[in-house]
Amino acid sequence: PVTSASAESEAELAFEGALRPRSLAEFVGQTKARGQLELLLRAAELQSRTPDHILLAGPPGLGKTTLAMIVAHEGARPLRMSSGPAIQHAGDLAALLSSLVPGEVLFIDEIHRMARSAEEMLYLAMEDFRIDIMVGKGAGATSIPLDLAPFTLVGATTRSGLLPNPLRDRFGFTAHLEFYDDSELDEVLARAARLLGLELAPDARAEIASRSRGTPRIANRLLRRVRDFALVHGRPADHGAVQAALELYDVDPLGLDRLDRAVLDAILSRFDGGPVGLSTLAVSVGEEPETIAAVVEPFLVRIGMISRTPRGRVATPRAYTHLGIRPRDAGAA
Ligand code: ADP
Repeated sequence: PVTSASAESEAELAFEGALRPRSLAEFVGQTKARGQLELLLRAAELQSRTPDHILLAGPPGLGKTTLAMIVAHEGARPLRMSSGPAIQHAGDLAALLSSLVPGEVLFIDEIHRMARSAEEMLYLAMEDFRIDIMVGKGAGATSIPLDLAPFTLVGATTRSGLLPNPLRDRFGFTAHLEFYDDSELDEVLARAARLLGLELAPDARAEIASRSRGTPRIANRLLRRVRDFALVHGRPADHGAVQAALELYDVDPLGLDRLDRAVLDAILSRFDGGPVGLSTLAVSVGEEPETIAAVVEPFLVRIGMISRTPRGRVATPRAYTHLGIRPRDAGAA
């Protein structure tokens, strides 16, 4: 997944793995997508066939990888994990596809970053469980058809708009994952605290939930910071500990981190509230446009701090209030 400034250390990954729900029943929130997936898996089971290909779309940390694992786990199917950036040639994909066992679930994270040449091969594989392997070059080139074991592709992308239409159309089902509300994050945290054997007061839990940017991965990470803080200071993980720990890590009362605030500040201070284009904005905060578009913007839009217009990103009055900056016109009015 696309990560923000904070790199994922191995310890963080291990921690995430330990907290991952293993079944749909354990998976918190996303009621709609969960119900749809449940139906799709059950129908496949009743017809003794592999489930349709599934596309999971949404910002990082909302549970795409977890759902892919659940699809495999619920159907007792083996799971193979790969990612778009790892598939840079059609040959990479051919090797992967031809080694799948019947019924296997193939997870391709960041599927929009797969090489174009591999995409075409994937169309045929998804439709007919078959690929054509090109042998030789130029006039003497021939293609050898190869039958594949039936499999279920689970693709994940931060934005389904990044996928070419022919690829998007070949998924039997697309789930758009939404940000979680505070009560759902509260549930995620209660579950995580239970698994960690950590005593977390309800008001402390609610405080972490409200600062987690609607994202379970962030909720779990903040929980870890709070646990560390409580441990080091030899105090309970109460509301005060949460506030102190999160202040230490620059997580503001709305859950915005440094990058979120840098983006808002740039729109407000440097571009007079916008509109400003994505690439200009990205350069001004020193980040990749994709990170801004996939990681930062969706949440800022969701909480009404910025809006997307055809001419670019525009800050809302709420953004001025939150950053304590006066709109330029306000003085004149
Ligand atoms: P993505 O692939 O969308 O970036 P992941 O599936 O890796 O996100 O989820 C990140 C972490 O958040 C996982 O370790 C998991 O523990 C937690 N998580 C995600 N969704 C849920 C959920 N619905 N319920 C409980 N925990 C979740």
